[in-house]
Amino acid sequence: MLRTRTQVGIVGAGPAGLLLSHLLALRGIDSVLIEIRSRAYCEARQRAGVLEDGSVALLREAGLAARLDRQGLQHGGIYLQFGGERHHVDFRELTGGRTVTVYAQTEVVKDLIARRLADVGNDAIAFSVTGTAVSGLDTDRPRLSYTDARGVRHEVECEAIAGCDGFHGICRQAIPAGLLTTWERDYPYAWLGILADVPPSTDELIYAHHRAGFALHSLRSPSISRLYLQVAPETDLRDWPDDRVWAELSRRFELPGWTLDRGPVLDKGITPMRSFVSAPMRYGRMFLAGDAAHIVPPTGAKGLNLALADVAVLAPALDALLHGDDKPAAAYSATCLDRVWRSTHFSWWMTTMLHRSPGADEMEAQLQLSQLRYVVSSTAAATSLAENYTGFAVQPAAAGQLHRTRSERGC
Ligand SMILES: Cc1cc2nc3c(=O)[nH]c(=O)nc-3n(C[C@H](O)[C@H](O)[C@H](O)COP(=O)(O)OP(=O)(O)OC[C@H]3O[C@@H](n4cnc5c(N)ncnc54)[C@H](O)[C@@H]3O)c2cc1C
Repeated sequence: MLRTRTQVGIVGAGPAGLLLSHLLALRGIDSVLIEIRSRAYCEARQRAGVLEDGSVALLREAGLAARLDRQGLQHGGIYLQFGGERHHVDFRELTGGRTVTVYAQTEVVKDLIARRLADVGNDAIAFSVTGTAVSGLDTDRPRLSYTDARGVRHEVECEAIAGCDGFHGICRQAIPAGLLTTWERDYPYAWLGILADVPPSTDELIYAHHRAGFALHSLRSPSISRLYLQVAPETDLRDWPDDRVWAELSRRFELPGWTLDRGPVLDKGITPMRSFVSAPMRYGRMFLAGDAAHIVPPTGAKGLNLALADVAVLAPALDALLHGDDKPAAAYSATCLDRVWRSTHFSWWMTTMLHRSPGADEMEAQLQLSQLRYVVSSTAAATSLAENYTGFAVQPAAAGQLHRTRSERGC
């Protein structure tokens, strides 16, 4: 057993854990970051792709946006398609200029990993670990244990632990029973997603309501498209050869004079749809961030943004805690949950407005269509969608507080 020390032990090298280790480093705080998967797996895992303005500002201020600024695609709206018509919702006009940026989560993760390795060296992230465990969480010196890729067991004494290990991770489960309140909703449908080597057939995302089920045309770059179909949760991918996927996408996006271009399918997967919130996001000296504490269905494009927003709040809170001030750490959970619940509601609202529930009656379809007509005909309703989609300001780290000042450091 190798015994070492660090200031913050971070479990999980997804967007939350990676950004947190970088934000802490900017504040002069050491961390140990461990990840159960390999670097190649983390960099290839297809997930989100839409960044809110606040997330872009945060990454920019943290010095992580060089490639994002070159390759990210700024989008000023989305299309809502229903009843055989496609309507543009113009975010810029509705929100005084706010936008979103299409930049794949794989690229965010690659940028973060590259930066940590460049700053710290190959030891910055322990990939492919096994046997992760956390203990002593209600003491001043919690411990993080794991076995590294060479088979060496480590026990790291920490001043705080960040559970950034996603929904299925071990950190939330390490909190004693009865101390967490959880809210959960599983939706009776899933998304079948493809990544396709074909330029997008649209300039902005298309959200399509269709009697056969929801479809989304998203994109990852000028040459790569990302498309989704609503399917049953128990769907077997073997029943969906590429031709069938393209035919069903063409049917759900059908519009006179518009065609969906097809190309080789690079990746195909099923994403379950779930809303989940657990509170509080802190137990003793362990703090949960990102999917470890909350999950939203991807319809509102919020999961990745929430993960980044959590750690923007957590980094300064941990900094204060390590310097003897517990106040920001005590406020961490409530501060994040405010944003989490707004995103949870928005994601549920988008999801239930656009998907067809199995066995739904005509009443449900008419209510959805009425809501969609209201959104595209009322400035008030469209503005509500636009301001939720583009997101609210990330606080407090994006407001020029990523680095500790010399006087804060006592210099
Ligand atoms: C299949 C899928 C598709 C998605 N699509 C979208 C989308 O289209 N739009 C959107 O906005 N959001 C989407 N999301 C959500 C979004 O990707 C997540 O919200 C985001 O990844 C959260 O980041 P995170 O860092 O909190 O968690 P994660 O990205 O899940 O990272 C957690 C990390 O912890 C690691 N880990 C787990 N257990 C351990 C352990 N015991 N020890 C060490 N490491 C561990 C995991 O391997 C992982 O790398 C999707 C999610 C999934 C699962």
